[in-house]
Amino acid sequence: MTSTLDLTAGPSFDGASSRRLLAHLRDIMAGSGSGQERLDKIVTLIAAEMRADVCSCYVMRAGEVLELFATEGLNKTAVHNTRLRVGEGIVGYIAGHARPLALDNAPSHPSFAYRPETGEDPFLSMAGVPVLRGGKVRGVLVIQHKDRRPYVEEEVESLQTIAMVVAELVAQSELVGASEVSTSGDPVLLPARLSGVAMSPGLAMGLAVIHRPQLTIRQLVAEDAEAELERFNAALVTMHSAIDDLLEAATLAGLGEPRDILETYRMFAEDRGWLSRIREAIRAGLTAEAAVQQVQNDTRARMSHLTDPYIRERLQDFEDLTNRLLQHLAGKTSSADGATQPDDMILVARSMGPAELLDYDRSRLRGLLLEEGTPSSHVCIVARALNIPVVQAADALNRIEALDQLIVDGDHGQVFIRPAEDIQMAFADSVALQHRKEQMYAEIRNLPSVTRDGVPISIQLNCGLLIDLPHLQASGAEGIGLYRTEIPFMVRASYPDVKAQTELYSRIMDEAGEKPIVFRTLDVGGDKMLPYMTGGEEENPALGWRAVRIGLDHPSLLRQQLRALLLAAAGRPLSVMFPMIAEVAELAAARRLLDLELKRQAGQGVEPPSRLRVGTMIEVPSLLWQLPALLPKVDFLSVGSNDLMQYLYAADRGNPRTSTRYDALSPGMLCVMRRLVDECSKHKVPLSLCGEMAGRPLDAMALIGAGFRTLSMAPPSVGPVKTMLRSLDVAALRQYMSGLYLGADHSLRDKLKTFARDHGVLI
Ligand code: PEP
Ligand code: MG
Repeated sequence: MTSTLDLTAGPSFDGASSRRLLAHLRDIMAGSGSGQERLDKIVTLIAAEMRADVCSCYVMRAGEVLELFATEGLNKTAVHNTRLRVGEGIVGYIAGHARPLALDNAPSHPSFAYRPETGEDPFLSMAGVPVLRGGKVRGVLVIQHKDRRPYVEEEVESLQTIAMVVAELVAQSELVGASEVSTSGDPVLLPARLSGVAMSPGLAMGLAVIHRPQLTIRQLVAEDAEAELERFNAALVTMHSAIDDLLEAATLAGLGEPRDILETYRMFAEDRGWLSRIREAIRAGLTAEAAVQQVQNDTRARMSHLTDPYIRERLQDFEDLTNRLLQHLAGKTSSADGATQPDDMILVARSMGPAELLDYDRSRLRGLLLEEGTPSSHVCIVARALNIPVVQAADALNRIEALDQLIVDGDHGQVFIRPAEDIQMAFADSVALQHRKEQMYAEIRNLPSVTRDGVPISIQLNCGLLIDLPHLQASGAEGIGLYRTEIPFMVRASYPDVKAQTELYSRIMDEAGEKPIVFRTLDVGGDKMLPYMTGGEEENPALGWRAVRIGLDHPSLLRQQLRALLLAAAGRPLSVMFPMIAEVAELAAARRLLDLELKRQAGQGVEPPSRLRVGTMIEVPSLLWQLPALLPKVDFLSVGSNDLMQYLYAADRGNPRTSTRYDALSPGMLCVMRRLVDECSKHKVPLSLCGEMAGRPLDAMALIGAGFRTLSMAPPSVGPVKTMLRSLDVAALRQYMSGLYLGADHSLRDKLKTFARDHGVLI
């Protein structure tokens, strides 16, 4: 074919060679050969003319997967075998953003994904452009160089010109089946991809089961109100016993926190106001079904304008209960009753309550796709506890039919609908890789947590739900470095009393056995509001009335929690940590409340803890200038780097525009870390770090280099961090980092990555 483009008019990156390249390209396009043969020639030509070590072309296949179609420089065996999802790796990034990208150090890009089968290990620089046609991305064209080199604008522009020709080739020579690139076919039958929000990690494949809880009500008016009331009461009894069965099953399965959620749920089911409003409506002449629905509509109308996510989630719990009740009135026991449940099922729902999820057969449930929901909704908390990937994506129900093949990618927040077979195979590979990695982490679980040069590092867990506790034994972590006590408070409808708190803390201590736990006192306020807490709107909640500030202003609240902790500990060791301490005087005030509780319990003959340790979090920068006064007063310190970063850099951690603007691996932050290590070791005060950075292998490496010996992290991070530290030579890293602290870099991430690569550290 002949291209309609005037290729010689394209920009040149080095004059003559660019014109030569475009002339050759025109010859290839005008010449003979299949589409594949011509594409092979094009990548060879580009590599030669642009003096690139690699030139590759990826073509978009159905289901938005990019397949390596031609390469000069990578392993030829990878052609038609290497596939990347849109958004995965740098190639996927370019396709996802439909924009060129030129990197002089590609492996340091956050999207970099290494594919061993391609043999692309030694190539450091990479420039790529999207292959666009009709406003859609049809593929990606990339060049790579072994050495670090910046790309000039003209090179990228030339690649863009060539990509236009490749787009024609893809469209006209049927490199992929016409149905795969068609945009006008029946959208219900074509493969498709939904982009959404990742709510619970992991990959799942299976068949769609549409969750439709809504029942139609045929009769609105009843003749016999008494008979209706009886029917309603009977349905209520069967619903309660069905919830009790779920509770029992959750207990048997050691489900911990989901069990607490279900208990809250039963409290809703017993809510007098709700029940009496339904009974009144029945007495007024409605059928039981119509009365239940009328109260549901009223509640919805009253609460729909509220934007508070917590209240909206509670509304969801009520909706779930209402649907349950309607099902019981119709003689069904659950929303799953009568639904076909294939062996590998993916539930698709507009929204869902936690109990509804548990109605389905867990041994068959692989994934969940919701049109509405937030990561903190109860259904997501339960799904995460059950290891079920969840994605939230609008319009799912319009695009998916029952029993459609689906892939839920809970890591990248995407869903593949009716994917082609080869794409399913690519995902099966990813799932297998995920399992292999997990196996590898399991294998090192019982090996010592010691660096290559013999420095022991204590790995601890961050927990906040009972469901996290089994990880303590399974991960090989030494203890719980941060127990966030606020989470159980957030899922309840009212403030738990001392008895409920004592029971909970005691269960946590029982489960942890000999392993130590650091209980952080209530850290609410800011972004963690309690539904029953009143404090009024704040203009700057992160700088507002939160954490220990609330506890000190309402000492009875903090005292109740401390009382419960002391009661639960009785005769066992107890470590208490106060969050958001900004001055030594605040710590002294909190400590006084603890002493009052100790005294009170001594008066009542309650056995004190066998050992009591008191510490604070380092989250507010003002404390950094009070260390000489603070250190003699604490038994330990833990850096809350999530908050410390936001206050140190004046960058809201919850705002996407600012949360990644500054790097925790900046000279400034690492200087603070090093100084803390020095001061604590002078005063012999144990120091740990429990913010998110402790769980990221590269960041953890830098912290160890700065002198940290205790890191506390979420359970899934233990394997990757332990793998990293067992391959690390701390002495070499210390030496390397000593020259970096006083530099002017925005971030030391690239330099630390280079160190890791050069020294064989597995990050
Ligand atoms: C922190 O601020 O780093 C921390 C661990 O506390 P949270 O993330 O719960 O605020
Ligand atoms: Mg914090």
